[in-house]
Amino acid sequence: MVSPTIIVHGGAGDWPKSKQAAGLSGVREAATRGFRLLQQGKSSIKAVEAAVIEMEDNPVFNAGSGSTLNLVGDVEADAGIMDGKTRRGAGVALVRRTKNPISLARLVMEKTDHALLAGKSAERLGEAFGLPKANLKLPERVYQWKQAKRRMEKGVLGDFPRNLKLIRSKGQSILGDTVGALAIDQNGDLAGADSTGGVSLKLPGRIGDSPILGAGLYADNRIGAATATGVGEIAMRLVVSKSTCDAMRSLTAQQAASQTVNMVTKMAGRGLGIVTLDRKGRYGVAHNTPHLCWAGVTKNRGLVSQLHR
Ligand code: ASP
Repeated sequence: MVSPTIIVHGGAGDWPKSKQAAGLSGVREAATRGFRLLQQGKSSIKAVEAAVIEMEDNPVFNAGSGSTLNLVGDVEADAGIMDGKTRRGAGVALVRRTKNPISLARLVMEKTDHALLAGKSAERLGEAFGLPKANLKLPERVYQWKQAKRRMEKGVLGDFPRNLKLIRSKGQSILGDTVGALAIDQNGDLAGADSTGGVSLKLPGRIGDSPILGAGLYADNRIGAATATGVGEIAMRLVVSKSTCDAMRSLTAQQAASQTVNMVTKMAGRGLGIVTLDRKGRYGVAHNTPHLCWAGVTKNRGLVSQLHR
């Protein structure tokens, strides 16, 4: 029997002082909820889904209720989940009204033959299975969206300078607070899950890394599990979650996470965080953003939570 472990994160980026305590308590609650399920003998898939639901329902995080808004002020959330035992996994994108996008991703993984569904049609699948709906667009995010738009109009370029030029010729400070979870259960089965409102002021229709297997997340019992946060375009172009898992063939979870972030810094600059879990139940955390809010629980170390690695 393997000793269960869970690691969750609440997003890479710049966590303002005013939100740090709430972020840390949110990741602790999510990790504790997932770990309790693992201790009861439940699967790692159940544990990561439950941990992510906890964070989707917590408005401090940019996922589910509390998702950031795109350029025109709408929620278009993404989520992904992967089972390391079967190497089946799936994502959903452009979700507007499903209360827990992670549960919709699990439905796609378990009930369909597909690995990615988007938009209204994806949400119809959720309706058919009775997934609850909710208004994911919360007043605080509308306020932040107005402020971010104002900054953009004043010329603050953020992570998407080309979009700004495009918007100016035709016509947004980014990042943060995405959530993710990785777990290993007592059978040694690994799983990963993530969920996000995406980057704020993204163009409508933009899909990030979170629902894309290999980019936003990856899990394979033979090597390990990883989930990324930060600028999704970096994670997709460098396929960071799969390549980090591959690195765990010879490196520990922490070594693989650090190696990936060093590689990203050299090749693409700042804007990425990653958490990892290897087959031995060791976790790793690395980021080149100011913060990465995370919590992990193992039998030996108990609950650990931090805003840095
Ligand atoms: N990776 C997410 C995205 O690009 C955002 C984040 O992690 O904060 O959609």
